[in-house]
Amino acid sequence: SGRLQGKVAVITGAGSGMGLAMAKRFCAEGAKVVAVDITGAQDDVAAAIGTSCVGIKADVSRSVDVIMMLSAAIDHFGRLDILCNNAGIQGPLALTADYEEDDWDRVMAVNLKGVFLGMKHAIPLMLKTAGKGAIVNTSSMAALVAFPQLPAYSASKGGVSVLTRQTAAEYASQNIRVNGILPGAIDTGMTRGMPADYLKAAIDATLMGRIGTPDEIANLALFLASDEASFITGTLTAVDGGYTLL
Ligand code: NAD
Repeated sequence: SGRLQGKVAVITGAGSGMGLAMAKRFCAEGAKVVAVDITGAQDDVAAAIGTSCVGIKADVSRSVDVIMMLSAAIDHFGRLDILCNNAGIQGPLALTADYEEDDWDRVMAVNLKGVFLGMKHAIPLMLKTAGKGAIVNTSSMAALVAFPQLPAYSASKGGVSVLTRQTAAEYASQNIRVNGILPGAIDTGMTRGMPADYLKAAIDATLMGRIGTPDEIANLALFLASDEASFITGTLTAVDGGYTLL
């Protein structure tokens, strides 16, 4: 049997990139998965995976949507064990003085408030239906290293890292584990949308000399979500090919 046999997971941003890799990997390890995205791609993902996966369209920055996507786990699969708060947007590239206030608000709403809302509404459901829980938040190495022209993105990810530790401390005694992943440059829609020279600089700064794959993020998410990580909480682990060693 799989490493997530009997577990029910909600994964946001599961229509592409890392979230898609997590959805496939978790189902392959025996989990039932609610694949969440804002685009519609979540339905194709669920159709491709089969009956162990259901697609739900939701915007993680809206509490009604977050409550609905988490309820879907209970409605379809009867419980909630795992939440991967993975949905995120980069926003435009601009220096702080040129950064538009509306862009700041949207990036913060999706990347930081979305993680808060996910945890706020998932924790009571986890405690009620599973008696414990595992939350995996996708932060970024941008929370550790300054990236030019990403003020809102970097600040949002710094917030995700701190909120991960904060919530881990609050709920450790109730066996809700909260951990964060700090991806480096990973080959997804997000990096494919970057200017070529911007992406090249990030890959050049990666000591292993290459971009990472979504599966390399899903591998850590799987471990942190599983009972193999039963004594691990509040950690922030870089998966970045050595980038942040510089
Ligand atoms: P991606 O664009 O392929 O995937 C992100 C997914 O989130 C998309 O399918 C998108 O539609 C969805 N999404 C966006 N806003 C949403 C919302 N409001 N509600 C629900 N879903 C929404 O990019 P990715 O690289 O796989 O990104 C996954 C996570 O990894 C993000 O949090 C991102 O910030 C983080 N990250 C990425 C990199 C990288 O190099 N790609 C590095 C560090 C961190």
